[in-house]
Amino acid sequence: MSVNQQAHTGPPYGRPQPGYQGYQQPAYGGQPLPGVPQLQYGAYNGPMPGYQQPAPPQGYFPSLGFPSKGSPVSLNSDTSSLAPNFIGSLRAPSTSGAPPPASGASLPSGHLTYSPFGQGDVQNGIPASAAAVQRPPASQPYLPGSAPMPVSQTPTFQQYGPPPASVQQLSNHMAGMTIGSVAASAPPPAGLGYGPPTSVPPVSGSFSTTGSGLYTPYTASQGPPPTSVSQSLPLAQPPFPGAPRPPTMPGPPLPGQTVAGPPTTQPNHVSSPPPPSAMSGPQPGPPMSGLHGPPPPTHPPQPGYQMQQNGSFGQVRGPQANYGGTYPGTPNYGSQPGPPPPPKRLDPDSIPSPIQVIEDDRSNCGSEPFVTGVRGQVPPLVTTDFLVKDQGNASPRYIRCTSYNIPCTSDMAKQSQVPLAAVIKPLATLRPEETLPYLVDHGESGPVRCNRCKAYMCPFMQFIEGGRRFQCCFCSCVTEVPPHYFQHLDHTGKRVDFYDRPELSLGSYEFLATVDYCKNNKFPSPPAFIFMIDVSYNAVKSGLVRLICEELKSLLDYLPREGNMEESAIRVGFVTYNKVLHFYNVKSSLAQPQMMVVSDVADMFVPLLDGFLVNVNESRTVIASLLDQIPEMFADTRETETVFAPVIQAGLEALKAAECAGKLFIFHTSLPIAEAPGKLKNRDDKKLINTDKEKTLFQPQTSFYNNLAKDCVAQGCCVDLFLFPNQYLDVATLGVVTYQTGGSIYKYAYFQLETDQDRFLNDLRRDVQKEVGFDAVMRVRTSTGIRATDFFGAFYMSNTTDVEMAGLDCDKTITVEFKHDDKLSEDSGALLQCALLYTSCAGQRRLRIHNLSLNCCTQLADLYRNCETDTLINYLAKYAYRGVLSSPVKTVRDALVNQCAQILACYRKNCASPSSAGQLILPECMKLLPVYLNCVLKSDVLQPGLEVTTDDRAYIRQLVTSMDVAETNVFFYPRLLPLTKADVDSDSLPAAIRNSEERLSKGDIYLLENGLNIFVWVGVNVQQGLIQNLFGVSSFSQISNGLSTLPVLENPFSKKVRSIIDMLQMQRSRYMKLIIVKQEDKLEMLFKHFLVEDKSLSGGASYVDFLCHMHKEIRQLLS
Ligand SMILES: [Zn+2]
Repeated sequence: MSVNQQAHTGPPYGRPQPGYQGYQQPAYGGQPLPGVPQLQYGAYNGPMPGYQQPAPPQGYFPSLGFPSKGSPVSLNSDTSSLAPNFIGSLRAPSTSGAPPPASGASLPSGHLTYSPFGQGDVQNGIPASAAAVQRPPASQPYLPGSAPMPVSQTPTFQQYGPPPASVQQLSNHMAGMTIGSVAASAPPPAGLGYGPPTSVPPVSGSFSTTGSGLYTPYTASQGPPPTSVSQSLPLAQPPFPGAPRPPTMPGPPLPGQTVAGPPTTQPNHVSSPPPPSAMSGPQPGPPMSGLHGPPPPTHPPQPGYQMQQNGSFGQVRGPQANYGGTYPGTPNYGSQPGPPPPPKRLDPDSIPSPIQVIEDDRSNCGSEPFVTGVRGQVPPLVTTDFLVKDQGNASPRYIRCTSYNIPCTSDMAKQSQVPLAAVIKPLATLRPEETLPYLVDHGESGPVRCNRCKAYMCPFMQFIEGGRRFQCCFCSCVTEVPPHYFQHLDHTGKRVDFYDRPELSLGSYEFLATVDYCKNNKFPSPPAFIFMIDVSYNAVKSGLVRLICEELKSLLDYLPREGNMEESAIRVGFVTYNKVLHFYNVKSSLAQPQMMVVSDVADMFVPLLDGFLVNVNESRTVIASLLDQIPEMFADTRETETVFAPVIQAGLEALKAAECAGKLFIFHTSLPIAEAPGKLKNRDDKKLINTDKEKTLFQPQTSFYNNLAKDCVAQGCCVDLFLFPNQYLDVATLGVVTYQTGGSIYKYAYFQLETDQDRFLNDLRRDVQKEVGFDAVMRVRTSTGIRATDFFGAFYMSNTTDVEMAGLDCDKTITVEFKHDDKLSEDSGALLQCALLYTSCAGQRRLRIHNLSLNCCTQLADLYRNCETDTLINYLAKYAYRGVLSSPVKTVRDALVNQCAQILACYRKNCASPSSAGQLILPECMKLLPVYLNCVLKSDVLQPGLEVTTDDRAYIRQLVTSMDVAETNVFFYPRLLPLTKADVDSDSLPAAIRNSEERLSKGDIYLLENGLNIFVWVGVNVQQGLIQNLFGVSSFSQISNGLSTLPVLENPFSKKVRSIIDMLQMQRSRYMKLIIVKQEDKLEMLFKHFLVEDKSLSGGASYVDFLCHMHKEIRQLLS
């Protein structure tokens, strides 16, 4: 089934369909149906009072004085730190986000008649009639009684605000700074030729250069002739295309498995102890002198935007501790004979600070709601807490773009090298005060669509001929308005029912899908969850099996429910396995569960249909009995070997037999070496790192799992994988099915009940409860001129346009890249429409539509002024992480550096005022590009630390590929909070500081989080009182090493710290591992790995050094 399927032909003529009820408001002439509560979908109300909707491209003007029914939304002006997508209590009865609606409404008869359940479901499944009785009435909550939202946002572009410190410059002395790193870290592209230092380009009125440094800049008098930016490295040829999945990597078969290194209980592990150079930061040097005035602009000044601002980049400092060496592969660097001049470095305070940018955005944007009525409006940063009001474009929680003003032509796009990409999270969780997408029911005729490109009705379609036809905003084709959908236009050309219909006035909404959008032209059955538990020796011995069974007893009461349903429609089933599989009959009529063993794993089948998938409430006692018995049954097992592929096959077959989609929750402990399809070998080999064969470590060792994944996607069988390895288990291969079915992987290396059970149980609870759609297909349509060409994320594609996901949950993100295939125009801008067809947790087939309008430009400056670096980094990281599947890691790193240098060089050449080549000039919106890019380059996938395991790298690679912008932001640049500066009397967080060791004080306690881990770092000189309050011991030395929890103590500081940690845990999609680190303790190395502005032990450059390196790269391109 494809999203673009031709809509069902509607009835010949008719009034609005009976199913369309909730949007009719008497004031607009709607006729409420008798007996149908008005709030069925939540009243949809027009624009907010006083909000002046700006002109969309094609002339839709909401009348300014329109009588508003202002959607009651309480305005939260807290700008502190609550990130978007705050999730509620994990154990709340329902996490669907929708409060109980006022009432249900019966559907048009026959509309939701579920297809008969498959064999075996008749007795245990939910009766079809019960499932069809009520359509969950709301996909969004209605919040009555709160105050109307005050409106103060004016429809202007944010970017034209008061002049920020728009440009960052670094004086030419930068070029003389030390650049380099020990191991391979983003060397300049080969062939560019770095000449020996001969001269420093003159700079008028420049800083005095206080030290010639090891490396001098490339100048025009040496090296290769100048090349134009657009010629040197065409974007059209990505350095690591595609993501092929080559066949088995042979490798020597190993008997059994070997333990790979010391116990590593979390990814990104760095274990080799450092030279004890802690706190020996660089010494400040003499201050810079001699600022020079701004050069004359070449462009006409743009209102409110200051193209360039000269700033002092302050002091030169001594070399960074532990720093030395050169970039490998660039022999010209640092190879001059003679004693090297004393290297100097920039004052870190003088270079662009992520913390400052985040704080500035919070104070500028955090207090006002972000109203989406304006085309091409750049949203606040993901680190800013803001409220979104949908006025015709999708919320940035659903879609973020690398740029909101895109070049009109392909040439211009190539010249800039700025990737045009959108990061889409179709089922994103909104803030409680925000409105979930309304559900629109057009009855049997289904949604109205363009005849040619099949785009769905949206606010940008233009009605013509008195409303009888509409012109498509994507392809310009003119389509007849179906008679039942006809409506008159007002004097501005706008339909008079504009505000009654979400699909005409909102950026995001849902359509109830007709049977034409369903597989085999049958409405789907509700999905099923199958829990599949490894009961081999390790799983039993660690207490894991008992833990899972205990948890499931209560967790099954919290399966996702839809709307006002009293119980979940999801059926459940249970399998245990080691070398063989055990199926369980938990039919409600049984006194005790029955086990059926399948030992022939070569050709998996499901030995029972009736009684395997059951309703939790009906079979409650049998299920409880089973969950009690499982740990006992396998308590004395000696079986150490496991199978894996047959487990997935079993779940798949069970879903096939039940004719439904669903999710498998697999709890697995070891490399599947037992004789069975999909059997694996231990092929881990760290000697491959930094060789051309390194990519094989990321590739699956057999194509078996790719084929299995394809079958799973076809059935809507999503696989979530919980891994508990004590050694290598080949995440790269085991994760293939999970990855391609839209599932999630969780990994708990060296799982120990005491330290890891909270994390695992929280992850499991959230994973089971979270909103998820099944059997999903996503397509992104665009205006003529650009098209979606590339996709990144956890999904499967069988053609070039449709992104298929067996399951798609509220955390999963798809990054889509666009390329020009024609010209765009500044007048019409560019439009994106993301359509997601999916089956809800109650078995309802729906279409979720997100629309976004962007500006188009003919001036590069407009592009650079409307970029979003966080989104750019999300794209670049995913691009690079896919690249490692097919290219040497060094090639991937070089390509990243190269592309970013070109982006910045293009800005410098075309947008910045002329100035000395010795100045580094960064566009305001991209001034953090170097620091964030460096974090990507230093990440464990692209530059592994010595003790990072192959499985860690494969795991991180897959995680990042599905991350949204907020997640990649904090993953690559962790949040570092001085806990001792926290105000115990307020709810706010202490102000974050930059991720560098020299920012830490020995007398303070800090928290660092990156979305996977939380570190609490304790300085050696922390006051005893604070230590007593937080740890309950009297001195620093009494704090236990390796602590993973904080004691619950009744004092303000302890409460404050624990509440901060709880709050951060709630904000993230995974429960973070807490690690207490004492200064100068062994574990501190692990912590320091995340101080990403510093040089890393694995050879990653410090921020300062990398900035210098980028500057050189840019100069190279410009000369
Ligand atoms: Zn069209």
